[in-house]
Amino acid sequence: MVLERQREALRPAELESPEPGPGQVLLRVHTCGVCRTDLHVVDGDLAEPKLPLVPGHQIVATVDAVGEGAERFEVGERAGVPWLGWTDGECRYCRSGRENLCEHALFTGYQLDGGYAELAVADERYCFPIPEGYPDLQAAPLLCAGLIGYRSLRLCGDDAARIGLYGFGASAHIICQVAAHQGREVFALTRPGDSEGQRFAVSLGATWAGDTEAGPPEPLDAAIIFAPVGELVPVALRALAPGGTVVCAGIHMSDIPAFPYEILWGERSVRSVANLTRRDGEEFLTLAPRVPVQTTVAEYPLAEANRALDDLRAGRVEGAAVLVI
Ligand SMILES: [Zn+2]
Ligand SMILES: [Zn+2]
Repeated sequence: MVLERQREALRPAELESPEPGPGQVLLRVHTCGVCRTDLHVVDGDLAEPKLPLVPGHQIVATVDAVGEGAERFEVGERAGVPWLGWTDGECRYCRSGRENLCEHALFTGYQLDGGYAELAVADERYCFPIPEGYPDLQAAPLLCAGLIGYRSLRLCGDDAARIGLYGFGASAHIICQVAAHQGREVFALTRPGDSEGQRFAVSLGATWAGDTEAGPPEPLDAAIIFAPVGELVPVALRALAPGGTVVCAGIHMSDIPAFPYEILWGERSVRSVANLTRRDGEEFLTLAPRVPVQTTVAEYPLAEANRALDDLRAGRVEGAAVLVI
């Protein structure tokens, strides 16, 4: 499924089979998670994607062939491909353990063709082994919803005992389980009236679930905003205890309205999370089976990728949407 121009539907296309270059693996894709970032690419919120583009950056596949010098994976082994597809390894960020901020990074399903396809190629250094015990369908959302959620949770601080999750989609449904497993109290905040989402959150270990307007019953040590809604930043700041942090987890957000300094005062902070490092991936994929994280997925055939994107845009997906190839 190919994006030819932004703000247009994806089209089915027959492409030539990609060849694995040096250090790359050729992958037979089994499933690919649908991420809100894919929507931002299709809808034109993110500028200048490679076009035409095969979207998708939560790829679960088996290795079909390996390119020259590639030796991390055996043919037939399962591999997962995340958003971070390549870095230069030499800029100031790469040299200081912050490859997520690499000045020349290339991202899967944005500058590199992704997994809304039968075949894909990827640089083996950025692929992850898929933890045993996760079927292809359930593994896909771990690769971005899980990884980015995990990085967001890490940036809340180890001592943040009360965590608010604003927007209860694919990422929150995973990270709620991780945070509860770590002994934190989770407060899930959904759109007013979304009682199904609130029930879902409680079933996954949230201590409390309610709507963003009413706010949580206790002050939060940290809040993660998964919804791409800038209005939620001052809302979450008002719910924070002194010293607390608001973490904005998405790659795109609507404008943040002006707010009075007093809601930032008291050493509260607002920060974003950008991309992932391979270390985040290794840590999270080791942790997930120990929790154990269970993913709730809505399954779509590859040819219905546009319907999956529409459902995600309209908030009709419980858990994570996954394409099955
Ligand atoms: Zn770099
Ligand atoms: Zn993503």
